[in-house]
Amino acid sequence: MLDPDPIAPHGGTLVDLLVPEGERDRAREEARNLPKLTVNERELSDLEMLAVGALSPLTGFLGEKDYRSILDTMHLSDGLPWTIPVTLSLTEEDLKRIGGADQVALVPADGAEPLAVVAVEETFRRDREGEANGVFGTTDAEHPGVKALHAAGDYCLAGTVRVIDLPPHGDFLQYRLTPAQTREEFRKRDWRRVVGFQTRNPVHRAHEYLQKCAMEIVDGLLLHPLVGQTKGDDVPADVRMRCYEVLFENYYPKDRAMVSVFPAAMRYAGPKEAIWHAIARKNYGCTHFIVGRDHAGVGSYYGTYDAQKIFEEFEPEELGITPLFFEHSFYCTECEGMGSPKTCPHGDEERVILSGTKVREMLRAGQKPPPEFSRPEVAQILIDAMRDSAS
Ligand SMILES: [Zn+2]
Repeated sequence: MLDPDPIAPHGGTLVDLLVPEGERDRAREEARNLPKLTVNERELSDLEMLAVGALSPLTGFLGEKDYRSILDTMHLSDGLPWTIPVTLSLTEEDLKRIGGADQVALVPADGAEPLAVVAVEETFRRDREGEANGVFGTTDAEHPGVKALHAAGDYCLAGTVRVIDLPPHGDFLQYRLTPAQTREEFRKRDWRRVVGFQTRNPVHRAHEYLQKCAMEIVDGLLLHPLVGQTKGDDVPADVRMRCYEVLFENYYPKDRAMVSVFPAAMRYAGPKEAIWHAIARKNYGCTHFIVGRDHAGVGSYYGTYDAQKIFEEFEPEELGITPLFFEHSFYCTECEGMGSPKTCPHGDEERVILSGTKVREMLRAGQKPPPEFSRPEVAQILIDAMRDSAS
């Protein structure tokens, strides 16, 4: 008989940190009497990811031993691959106020009700320089991840988390599947091999091509757009979601592809984030993961292939999920089809290649890029969104 789950969660068990429904009222009541700690947008994303098991096997915010181990070895202290510390920030004042409390209630910046309770195990001082180098490969304060690190508190609070309520969301409700739910969907569809595609951009023809190349060798595609915090100049998540919907409606077979959202916040940690993204997708039940050029990159902080090369530093079986590496792709007028430098022998004159800057310029002017670059339905949504945001 076939194993019902083709890929085990990272570390073997899918974590569920939600307080059982019948105990929530009491947990909420108790949490109201605990010292409170306000969490920022990124920590709120991490809390949601922890709660639903997207960060399995983590059961809370990490302590110093794991923190150091990740920065020094890209593994948790128990030897499991892990590349980005998941920490809860604490200022000096927080530390004084919370003092020796055993439990702390986490409250979102825009709410009064506690969402979760941390059983405090330790507090420790953040190593800003070590963390900047270990995660982002740079201490340049212009890097968005380093900038966020400087804005964070000097200390971290570690401990196991019990989540009373998931952070409330008003959007994409039908797309917010937990890892248990995506796994259930894959089972229902009888998908044994599933490729995950991470994106924080609209999908143009080039990315559609990569996804469809991968779909040829697996049973299904999970398009898994990141909808947590991104840089201000990234295309807003609601606009991107409309683009994915229209693409799926017109160009993807319904029984072979599905969209669900990934609640993570972007770190822009390039290679380290590529590994972290792959591990999270394994928890969602993906067996394969697409890694393009400059995955999770920003500016020119990372080499073009760094996010692919880093996978060689792990044994395939310790990661479990199989990365699929892709080149940039394009439409070639001579080949009369999509291709990449691996499959098309022609030069730039035959290839329909537009820079991001050029595309934004065209869209702002109300012009659709050529259909070989962007599906007209997608281009129209982006043009409308730019016009609306300008007015
Ligand atoms: Zn060609």
